[in-house]
Amino acid sequence: MPHVIDHRGGVRSIAVPIPDNPLGHTLVHLLETDRGPVLIDTGWDDPASWDALAAGLTACGTDVTEIHGVLVTHHHPDHHGLSARVREASGAWIAMHAADTEVVRRTREAEPGTWLTYLIGKLAAAGAPEEHLAPLYAARAEGRTRGLPDERPALPDREIVPGELLDLAGRRLRAIWTPGHTPGHVCLHLEEAHPAARPGNGRLFSGDHLLPGISPHVGLYEDPDDATVTDPLGDYLDSLERIGRLGVAEVLPAHQHAFTGAAERVAELVTHHEERLGGLRTLLAAPLTPWQLAETMTWNRPWAEIPYGSRTIAVSEAEAHLRRLVKTGLVEPVPGSEPVAYRAV
Ligand SMILES: [Zn+2]
Ligand SMILES: [Zn+2]
Repeated sequence: MPHVIDHRGGVRSIAVPIPDNPLGHTLVHLLETDRGPVLIDTGWDDPASWDALAAGLTACGTDVTEIHGVLVTHHHPDHHGLSARVREASGAWIAMHAADTEVVRRTREAEPGTWLTYLIGKLAAAGAPEEHLAPLYAARAEGRTRGLPDERPALPDREIVPGELLDLAGRRLRAIWTPGHTPGHVCLHLEEAHPAARPGNGRLFSGDHLLPGISPHVGLYEDPDDATVTDPLGDYLDSLERIGRLGVAEVLPAHQHAFTGAAERVAELVTHHEERLGGLRTLLAAPLTPWQLAETMTWNRPWAEIPYGSRTIAVSEAEAHLRRLVKTGLVEPVPGSEPVAYRAV
């Protein structure tokens, strides 16, 4: 049986499994419009996920060939993975924020090896040890790109313009730019009365930005072509507060389950990050490279048990926290250190 929930008011969710992932599934939302059903995200590109999406659409009384359009909250493969197949089957348009469309374009156009070269340079600069870099050197030498970001995600054909109402017949859906988890992440605010008359200002499709029981990964934006020093964690915290002020009656996230109390959840996440930043500043009483900081930080398991790929992601998260601490004047790079170490001011 497909796992479908009717949220009423022309909104349903379909749980589309993510293979071999503790998150379990992506909640793909189906929004009825006067021109046909529109999907918010599509799910992971895998045959079982595709079958679950197709079965879910049938259970909702429609069919994948009927899809009018696809709104993508952000470029990650558990959200955008099946967009190409949906477009192929239905002729639907695909819409995404310009900043994430840029990421997709870059991924599609990158020469094989560009990403590896970028990753090696970045990890070496962060103080990664030789044993972490060695497999990357080997992969580059052998021309292997397996396990790297999907090479051919669908290029969107429409832009989600933040602040504007989306062109959806019979619906009031407004895009809100919420960078942080990715540079072009958007939440979609359904500015219609809650179908169960819950108090508040409509409903929010929150993607990965606001989840009931998980703090989403915030790392660097990882653009090999752009040396701009961004502050993704600062972006994330700003976007969180913007979302908290909307006063929505209910949140429909892309993982876990729908929930109420958006403002309380935002406050919890802000506090979590403030505490974490404070803790890291304490750790930086002695200078540490980003790699050493990642080794010292508290994760969901001891560093020794964190698998290889997750360590790369963890270092990116440590770097995002360092950026934030440097930007707020609490931490500074140690002059002349190589690789650069950071210390509390
Ligand atoms: Zn994501
Ligand atoms: Zn996700």
